[in-house]
Amino acid sequence: MNETLARITINSETRHVKDLSLHQKHLRFKCLRCAIFCCRLGGPWLTGRDIERIKQAGYDMKDFLEPALKSKFKGLPIMRGSLKNKEDGSCVFLKFDAEKNRCECLIYDFRPVLCRLYPFDFGWISLNTIVLKFIPCCRGLNNPDGELVDEEFITNYLLDSVLDLMI
Ligand code: SF4
Ligand code: SF4
Repeated sequence: MNETLARITINSETRHVKDLSLHQKHLRFKCLRCAIFCCRLGGPWLTGRDIERIKQAGYDMKDFLEPALKSKFKGLPIMRGSLKNKEDGSCVFLKFDAEKNRCECLIYDFRPVLCRLYPFDFGWISLNTIVLKFIPCCRGLNNPDGELVDEEFITNYLLDSVLDLMI
């Protein structure tokens, strides 16, 4: 399967999209809040802004931040560490909610930018051009009840996260 969703060029001064070409026309997405893949795979990496947001939500850095050598984040120099994981590999903020009978993110409104972006991801082609991809194992993809992942979806839901990581 071709996992490329779109190619995007940004004007780095205005932070506006100069060009967006969509490679997938029929992809749909709705998060099922299953917390199966995104919250149990280790990490995620954190930007300085992520760390500040989580601190402002009342959490102590020593309880959630796993510092890492800068060399680990060569591809994304904006990263400052990662979220701690529990022994089973799940995120430290993933908690079972007995009433809902499912796991919930304790910091959903303040979650890191990579969590907001998931199941989408990107790679650089040049300084201001990226390829936006999707991670096919996520159960929310190709959900018939999901929203069409088109230019509007990318602009409304993904672009801020991408810009947070790019610029
Ligand atoms: S992003 Fe995907 S894997 Fe993560 S909770 Fe939503 S549906 Fe599940
Ligand atoms: S911060 Fe929340 S959304 Fe992100 S990995 Fe942890 S539990 Fe999942």
